[in-house]
Amino acid sequence: MSLFLEKNIKFLKGVGTQRAEVLAAHLGIHSIGDLLSHYPIRHEDRSKIFTIAELQEGVSVQLSGIVKPLGWEGEGKAKRFKAALQDKTGILELVWFSGGTWVEKKLEEGAIPYVVFGKPQLFRNTFSMAHPELEEADKYLMRGGSSLTPVYSISETARKRKIDNKVITDIIRNAIFSSDFAINETLNPEILGKYEFLSKAQAIAELHNPSSATILEKAKQRLKYEELFFLSLRHLMLRQNNKTSFKGPVFNHIGHFFQTFYHHHLPFELTQAQKKVLREIRNDFLTGSQMNRLLQGDVGSGKTIVALISCLIALDNGYQACIMAPTEILAAQHFQSFEELLHKVNIKPVLLTGSTRKKERTQMLEGIENGTISIVIGTHALLEDTVKYKQLGLVIIDEQHRFGVAQRAKLYNKGNELVPHVLVMTATPIPRTLALTIYGELDVSIINELPTGRKPIKTVHRYQNQRSFVMDFCKQQIAEGRQVYIVFPLIEDSEHSEKQSLMSGYDLVCSYLPTPEYKYSLLHGRMKPEEKEMEMQNFKNQRTQIMIATTVIEVGVNVPNASIMIIENAESFGLAQLHQLRGRVGRGKEQSFCILLTDTKMSNTAKKRIKTMVDSTDGFFIAQVDMELRGPGDMDGTKQSGLLDLKLAEIKTDEKILIAARKDAEKLISQDPNLEQAFNFYIRAEYNRIPNRTVWSKIS
Ligand code: ADP
Ligand code: MG
Repeated sequence: MSLFLEKNIKFLKGVGTQRAEVLAAHLGIHSIGDLLSHYPIRHEDRSKIFTIAELQEGVSVQLSGIVKPLGWEGEGKAKRFKAALQDKTGILELVWFSGGTWVEKKLEEGAIPYVVFGKPQLFRNTFSMAHPELEEADKYLMRGGSSLTPVYSISETARKRKIDNKVITDIIRNAIFSSDFAINETLNPEILGKYEFLSKAQAIAELHNPSSATILEKAKQRLKYEELFFLSLRHLMLRQNNKTSFKGPVFNHIGHFFQTFYHHHLPFELTQAQKKVLREIRNDFLTGSQMNRLLQGDVGSGKTIVALISCLIALDNGYQACIMAPTEILAAQHFQSFEELLHKVNIKPVLLTGSTRKKERTQMLEGIENGTISIVIGTHALLEDTVKYKQLGLVIIDEQHRFGVAQRAKLYNKGNELVPHVLVMTATPIPRTLALTIYGELDVSIINELPTGRKPIKTVHRYQNQRSFVMDFCKQQIAEGRQVYIVFPLIEDSEHSEKQSLMSGYDLVCSYLPTPEYKYSLLHGRMKPEEKEMEMQNFKNQRTQIMIATTVIEVGVNVPNASIMIIENAESFGLAQLHQLRGRVGRGKEQSFCILLTDTKMSNTAKKRIKTMVDSTDGFFIAQVDMELRGPGDMDGTKQSGLLDLKLAEIKTDEKILIAARKDAEKLISQDPNLEQAFNFYIRAEYNRIPNRTVWSKIS
């Protein structure tokens, strides 16, 4: 970093000790470098000067005219300073509830022309403007430049202490125009040349004081690229570092378990995509480094069998494996499918959850510690300190976004001298850009193919007033031996519990499909685990035909004979959730249906979600639309991800830049892994300057 950037803010023209204190205390700005990295949140076009006659309520405008002080009014909190702006069309009252003394002093110099910027408000048919920005018209004209004015985020407390947008804009300009202004480059000549980027110094100067809209755009492109480049570089360095510093067990033995299962007990032929992913995982097992792999695959693409076969390889090499699921239902279900498949090779997995009885638990813990138990399936109960493994070699985390950072960190520490391999599986696909940003340091495997013979699910949209037709259709399907899910949204308020909202749904459905002719299972989140388990089993074993549930069945539940999914109030669900729910059907040989029931009134985004579901069954496409509709910040798992640290770049709109930056970072690391080359000097300096924040997925 240059000396200029390190300089204390108080030495900058227009700042001084007092303002420096306010800037430090309320905006975290200590040095000139901090000031210049306080990027504007947007730019306002102030090319036009309006007249008072043209004012519109709530529309910020720039006016010009003579400003005269009117003096003070009111007492205590209501005490305010007023002034009058006059232009050729009228007079506008300006009001300051805070900072009035300062304005008063400024206006003492006499009635001179000002340029005023602010938002007019209408009160009793008269406009006024609170806390407008004032700039002497002379200075405004002298300043020249473009009409694009940066707008900075300024905390309320800073505003109270007279730091407004004008002050920030002015002192930043003072920094940019000071004689010792210097900012080091942060990229290398190759990259700068390839994209014809502005230099770092130019980009910063233009961002704060644009000379034209075109150059401002160029400045932004460069700065966005830089953010995404260093994000990618950090991920790739971390990945490289993981590979060299974390030793993972080598599973080079293909033994009895794998051979027997793979060649004699596979219930179906694996898809090409499943085989490819297994090869990738097996390669990781041979490197001697810890595997950190993300497995992405659409709902129903068959991630479970891949997980199971990976476990067998660990076992063949004398290690234990564990599988962690986000809910007890899911853990129980994994346990069941594992148990069914594994008994053929004489392996007995155990299920360890919060509701495992004490006596059983004690036995399990013993077995896990002495190694007689080789596969453990469970919820976060697997992470309790009491669970000690003899030799844990593989950790599989299913539907990972529901796991917190701390929980995963705990699991990570369960390895002994070697760090267990980690396979993270996502419930639904996430868009590539998001994956690169959140899991950028993980290797990624994708199952991009569904097992053959699947009939695509037919999805339709119906309104709630068409319910009787929908119910008739269910009758027909049930008569043919199929089963039906009906999912209700969780409407929980002070009057209705989850159970009550589900029961009213149940009553409604029963009025069409009466008991005892039709048999029901009911499932909601507040039930005891053993109750849930019983309801699931009844449905699975076809003792019931209709499953009425809240979204607890969203993830992972697998009942191939169920071929109808009805989603009530589908407009109130997010896309990822709808796709997950739909994924509960289409798992068997029969044609499956998903019926989205909605109100006739829907918001535009709800309409778009429903249309997307009706038009597509491709999870990768749906994830992309979801991100476009919601913005990445709201998507599962992104909150803690460092994504929100990006200042200018947006994953939603800057996909091209991200992909280019990632590619460039990959190339750079392959050519200069330790950033030692002279031409990468600036990149290294910048890389070392940015504190290496904990990347949250580091743990996985
Ligand atoms: P997900 O990826 O959503 O976890 P699952 O692993 O639950 O999917 O698999 C969905 C269904 O497809 C299961 O019933 C499973 O047995 C079946 N399945 C998985 N792989 C294949 C395959 N290669 N051929 C046929 N059926 C398969
Ligand atoms: Mg699954």
